[in-house]
Amino acid sequence: MGPHISIYMVVLLKKKCNRCRKNYVKCSKRQGYILCYPCQKPQLDVEIEDKTMKKLFDIPEEFYKENSFLCELKSKYIRFGSLSEKQIAVFEKIVGELKEEMGEETEKKEINVQDIELSDRAY
Ligand SMILES: [Zn+2]
Repeated sequence: MGPHISIYMVVLLKKKCNRCRKNYVKCSKRQGYILCYPCQKPQLDVEIEDKTMKKLFDIPEEFYKENSFLCELKSKYIRFGSLSEKQIAVFEKIVGELKEEMGEETEKKEINVQDIELSDRAY
């Protein structure tokens, strides 16, 4: 019996970031406080100690940009130190879908590691 993953079965909307009020973020209706990726990034840049979770969160940065729910789950983990099985299943499902969606395109984008490192230094 697999976990029931209805959380993600909702239409994604675009809302304005609650912090900078400039960028639009794809999110579900249920997400109350919305942060765009640049606003959320410093908060997500935390070393994950747990090996399993570290592996789970080790996905292309592009995925976090594309899906704010991934950011929300990671930030939840950072805040509370754990995720439920259901949340992990949702995370994996979204990542799987994004991998399919973005396919080879993602690999090309991953080459821009230098850009990412440069913007890291700005924080
Ligand atoms: Zn923002």
